[in-house]
Amino acid sequence: RKMDPTVLIVEDEAAIVTMLRYNLEREGMQVVEAGDGDEALKILAETHVDLVLLDWMLPVMSGIEVCRQIRRKPESRDLPVIMVTARGEEGDRIRGLDTGADDYVTKPFAIGELLARIRALLRRSGPAQPQGQLIYSDIEMDLAAHRVSRNGKAIHLGPTEFRLLRYFLEHPGRVFSREQLLNAVWGPNIYVETRTVDVHIRRLRKALNDVKGTRDIIRTVRAAGYALDSETAA
Ligand code: CA
Repeated sequence: RKMDPTVLIVEDEAAIVTMLRYNLEREGMQVVEAGDGDEALKILAETHVDLVLLDWMLPVMSGIEVCRQIRRKPESRDLPVIMVTARGEEGDRIRGLDTGADDYVTKPFAIGELLARIRALLRRSGPAQPQGQLIYSDIEMDLAAHRVSRNGKAIHLGPTEFRLLRYFLEHPGRVFSREQLLNAVWGPNIYVETRTVDVHIRRLRKALNDVKGTRDIIRTVRAAGYALDSETAA
């Protein structure tokens, strides 16, 4: 069951669209494109979208006008919008946010920063918020409430350990290398030493194993990486 968020890119510069699409898809997001405002509004009327990356300088209708129209419609009133623009003046920034954009990025932007802003907005927004539970063996994760329990006992995890466990729960039994975990949990553009993964695995393991009567559910695979595996030898 996939819950990939869908991002609508409204941008008339093909090179930027290509770059954005590549990076968003690497983050596990679905991408739809519109080259101008009319097309964007048409897509929004027909397709479920979780977030809009909206260029300010568009042919015919400006990004500001597109944003106004998005906000005017009840079905897209709460849709997260990030305005992307080449302008950087404070006045423009305020104007962009006044129109109803949730965030604002100035070109040229660092893709890592943009992805972080997208993730933050998706986390905050209603429709894109993950729903439901992930369950494996005696571990339960409530995505909406951001709660984890093992054997019915609440477990407190830091944000990174939470994301790590979530990724494992989405792919139980599968062995992941440190690099794969880094890409999936920290993101492909974030520079972190692979050793960092071990630190967070150690914390996650400790939190999970603190529950009495349970056994180590994280398997260390020598020279390969880690897996969530209930068959792990005690
Ligand atoms: Ca443009």
